Amino acid sequence: MKNTIISVIICFTIAGCNNVSQKQENKTIADMNPQFDAFKVNFIEELWKVYPTWASSQGYHKYDSILVVPNDESREKELTFSKTNLNSIKAYDLAGLSDNNKTDYYMIENQLKSIEWAINEQKSFEWNPSEYNISGAFAEILNGNYDSLDIRLRNFNLKMANIPAYYMAAKNNVKNPTIEHTQLAIDQNMGGISVFEKDFHEALNKVHFGEHEKQMMEANAKEAVKAIKDYAAWLKDLINKTPRSFRLGKELYAKKFEFDIQSGYTIDEIYAKAVAHKKELHQKMFELADKLWEKHVGGSISVSLGIKSKLSKPTDSLQLIKQVIDKISEKHVKPEEFQTAIEQQLPVLIDFIKKKDLIYIDPSKPLVVRKEPDYMAGVAGASISAPGPYDKNGNTYYNVGSLSGWDKEKAESYLREYNHYILQILNIHEAIPGHYTQLVYSNQSPSLIKSLFGNSTMIEGWAVYTERMMLENGYDDSPEMWLMYYKWNLRSTCNTILDYSVHTKNMSKEEAMNLLVTEAFQQKTEAEGKWKRVSVTQVQLCCYFTGYTEIYDFREELKKQLGDKFNLKKLHEKFLSYGSAPVKYIKALMMNTPS
Ligand code: ZN
Ligand code: ZN
Repeated sequence: MKNTIISVIICFTIAGCNNVSQKQENKTIADMNPQFDAFKVNFIEELWKVYPTWASSQGYHKYDSILVVPNDESREKELTFSKTNLNSIKAYDLAGLSDNNKTDYYMIENQLKSIEWAINEQKSFEWNPSEYNISGAFAEILNGNYDSLDIRLRNFNLKMANIPAYYMAAKNNVKNPTIEHTQLAIDQNMGGISVFEKDFHEALNKVHFGEHEKQMMEANAKEAVKAIKDYAAWLKDLINKTPRSFRLGKELYAKKFEFDIQSGYTIDEIYAKAVAHKKELHQKMFELADKLWEKHVGGSISVSLGIKSKLSKPTDSLQLIKQVIDKISEKHVKPEEFQTAIEQQLPVLIDFIKKKDLIYIDPSKPLVVRKEPDYMAGVAGASISAPGPYDKNGNTYYNVGSLSGWDKEKAESYLREYNHYILQILNIHEAIPGHYTQLVYSNQSPSLIKSLFGNSTMIEGWAVYTERMMLENGYDDSPEMWLMYYKWNLRSTCNTILDYSVHTKNMSKEEAMNLLVTEAFQQKTEAEGKWKRVSVTQVQLCCYFTGYTEIYDFREELKKQLGDKFNLKKLHEKFLSYGSAPVKYIKALMMNTPS
């Protein structure tokens, strides 16, 4: 413990201390980086042979024409790939690797072990029929503009030829599927048919292939549609007397959490932290709402049974909080101002960060704000589109949705959700200093491994952490802002409680709705959607709170250790310089201790 403290203090106070310690290490330990770099190149080439559709989705188009049939043979191939490479990485002594390669090493190892676990233990290829769904991958080939339409259509056609065999294998794999995933599989597969019936047909009309070739392709598309419809009908009629529960179960859940989240905490520790955090948030929210009630709600008139009366202050603390939240949510921009409001906030955020010296923002990499492209339309709000790992010159965009064409009621409800306060938190999260800033930093230590296996817990955790960090530094210190922020933070906290409780503690839908609507102040439709999501996914909902907690705890630990030598800006920049690696490895490297 004492050693850790001393080494951290040295690293934060003496510039260039990392170089000194590395030079000393190099005397005795061989530099393994050139060999490891060569290994990584080869590893990824082999990875794409085993997962050609994944390759296409990442912008690597050499294997666009291949659709792997998901059978024993292909699973054997995956297992051999994992085993071979797990053996290969053993040859590299971690001490001889750079920090960037150390984290890459851990991430490769985790990915390979996770492949083995998924096939041998989780076996979702048996109980989750929605794993078989190909329309998205085919739509990407049609919509991508990386190659001429001629080439893309011919690859599309070659890949399509395997669709009947693909669904035949799917039927062979599926055993006692969950009812929820069966329904999802039927809906998604039927929903994707238009790619082959309509989109492909329309694209064919744009090219000048010979009549014969076109007819062959149309015939293949017909076979594909037939195979998809057959699969959906087969699922519908499936006699499934002992369906698997959609609840993952404690043992599998703990393992999946380990592989997907890669936290320094166990799920039990995170769950306990989430429960305690919820309690703490409720307390803070009550104190704020209690003060704000008179100002915002106090004079309101309520009409009940035709009798007007002054609203009385609720005795129930959750009721009280809800009334204040509902009232201050009414402060929001007009629908037509939504986009400009977001654009105008970005320079304000940058100025604030500069003034407070929170993190360096590279002025040569401005964020390109654009109206959300058509193919993303429907989900308003804001999101970041980053270029894929093989598209180095691509722009990073901040997609901002437009509410034009929305009916009044829908727009109003949306704008109350993304009100004056939450809209700013959204910009912090998505753009500056959240996702976009993190991306700029991670691009400085380019790693294909981190682009492909990037740790979503670190990525989301950082964005959620910056929300609190900005408020703590005084971005908007009003009690209204804090109350809204706590509500927002309560969402990711309750996501974790919900996910773990549903999958391992048998939480009922009724209990879940109580958690989300009463305790987390969500709209009923939002809560219903969340219930649907938690019944077909596992663990993913935990990444926001887990990452946030790890980063926040790490910062507080450093603060305590370094006292007045602690520097927030330095911490942020150093932390982000490791790229999208799991927080526990970044922490170990920054603390200069073996993990
Ligand atoms: Zn309004
Ligand atoms: Zn995010």
